[in-house]
Amino acid sequence: MTNSKLDTYKHKGLRIKLVEIVKNKGITDESVLAAMQNIPRHFFLDNAFDKIAYEDRAFPIGEGQTISQPYTVAYQTQLLNIKPREKVLEIGTGSVYQATVLAELGALVFTIERQKKLYEKNLIAYPFRNKYKNIKFFYGDGYKGLPTFAPFDKILITAAAPYIPDDLLQQLKPNGVLVLPLGSDETQTMTRITKGIDGSFTEEKFEDFVFVPMLKGKAES
Ligand code: SAH
Repeated sequence: MTNSKLDTYKHKGLRIKLVEIVKNKGITDESVLAAMQNIPRHFFLDNAFDKIAYEDRAFPIGEGQTISQPYTVAYQTQLLNIKPREKVLEIGTGSVYQATVLAELGALVFTIERQKKLYEKNLIAYPFRNKYKNIKFFYGDGYKGLPTFAPFDKILITAAAPYIPDDLLQQLKPNGVLVLPLGSDETQTMTRITKGIDGSFTEEKFEDFVFVPMLKGKAES
């Protein structure tokens, strides 16, 4: 990530095409599509990958981690149905692209990363720090959530969760929603959990995706 990047007409053109692809794959929420149109995804990758940034694919960002595929980001965001000023907890900051989409939709974003290097890099090099003051970065284990800042309207897990972490269910507000790729096999099933006002939970299943695993504990390097 570098601050010397430009968002040219060429990049904007590539972005229009990318949003079209995501739309053709079935994303219908216009606010999600508009947010993606507004965010220069090439700022989240090294300079050499400007064109690849606008292909609908995941991409390595270092430390063995990936920036999620645009379609996947759109899919999870659409399931969350974000409204301005909602408090949203994201597990797996990674490149900060997904957090930026949530911030562009007006959410107050709390994002946790377990890898110290990635967390520190994001603190220093996040290119939109001044634009999106509504993103707060944390270094920690997403399985535990952020009890100090709970409860949240929405929680999003962006790594493959082998089970639904109970701490995260506890940190949801009544009517709150948790979206996660669930499973420990090669593919995971996108799952949405809604907390009732009586504290009960409803589960909905969606399409299958491939995520990097949600790992336990913090990584020091
Ligand atoms: N939302 C990211 C996707 C990154 S990939 C983006 O838009 O780019 C998933 C990320 O989850 C990785 O950075 C990985 O280190 C992180 N992760 C995995 N297990 C975690 C955990 N228990 N707590 C916090 N982050 C975790």
